[in-house]
Amino acid sequence: MLETTIAGSLPKPEWLAEPEKLWAPWRLSGEKLKQAKEHAAAEWLNHQQSAGIDIVTNGEQFRIHFVHGFLEHISGIDWDKKTAMGIRDNRYTVQVPTVTGPVSRPQSVHLDEVRFTRAQTDHKLKFTLPGPMTICDTIADVHYASRPEMAMAIAEILNDEARELAYAGVDVIQFDEPAFNVFMDDVKEWGITALHRAIDGLTCTTAVHICYGYGIDENLRWKESLGSEWRQYEEIFPALNASRIDQVSLECADSRVPLSLMGLLKDKGLMVGAVAVTPEKVETPKEVASTIRSALQYVDAERLFPCTNCGMAPIPYDTALGKLKSLAAGAVLVRNKL
Ligand SMILES: [Zn+2]
Repeated sequence: MLETTIAGSLPKPEWLAEPEKLWAPWRLSGEKLKQAKEHAAAEWLNHQQSAGIDIVTNGEQFRIHFVHGFLEHISGIDWDKKTAMGIRDNRYTVQVPTVTGPVSRPQSVHLDEVRFTRAQTDHKLKFTLPGPMTICDTIADVHYASRPEMAMAIAEILNDEARELAYAGVDVIQFDEPAFNVFMDDVKEWGITALHRAIDGLTCTTAVHICYGYGIDENLRWKESLGSEWRQYEEIFPALNASRIDQVSLECADSRVPLSLMGLLKDKGLMVGAVAVTPEKVETPKEVASTIRSALQYVDAERLFPCTNCGMAPIPYDTALGKLKSLAAGAVLVRNKL
């Protein structure tokens, strides 16, 4: 009950990549880089387990970015053909590669790191993949006729990947769909259909992470523009509750999401963000416990998974470590009184 987990990413140690920076290039290459990534992942697994996190991840230490880490190994993409694209409805502009032919997956993308990670821990293991809609919103396209068409093609290769990873021992496959909070009509029209294609035939737990983004300036400004109540989830939760996805994550810590919206997900597991992903402060266990208790008004303890709001990749290493500890300790405080 109240099994704790994290959205996925954790900061990279400074000897692996420049800290507190998205898309930071690797500091090493070749075999040295492979070993360094493994070392960093093993350290984060230890940190999570020592803190008391129940469902762990490898902290995404093997990828530069949560979307491009997957796309780098996909055929049909021209990495030299960069296009400036205003992603997440023009919240920020990124130089993205371009899809110039049919996408395909010549071989598994993440199998080696999953095998490594699985061998390091007996805890339940979560693995995160970018969702089809978010991938389509993070890459330019001159090949497909429409976004939904490209999304279905991408969902198919994500499904091949997910099946392989589940077979290698992953307990929870989570698709990261920050775009679900931005293109709410598309979610209902084709986003969930694409997500269903991505989870076809999976027997492990499936999850979707929908957030208000990393704790970076562009997102903080966007959040400021969203008014006193953030009701984006309200538009998509009914459709998600009717979907075949097992778990849905949402932001609760330091957010203006009305917690009553959790009532729209009566049939799902809820990963409740109980620590924010901004760097200014580390929540106390009491603060975490208070967020979890508020959520318990709308979701019973069996379905509630205390979690981080989003990935912690861009915040300082020690801050993320502190937040992990508080997250687990806060869950214990609540568990002891239930
Ligand atoms: Zn997120």
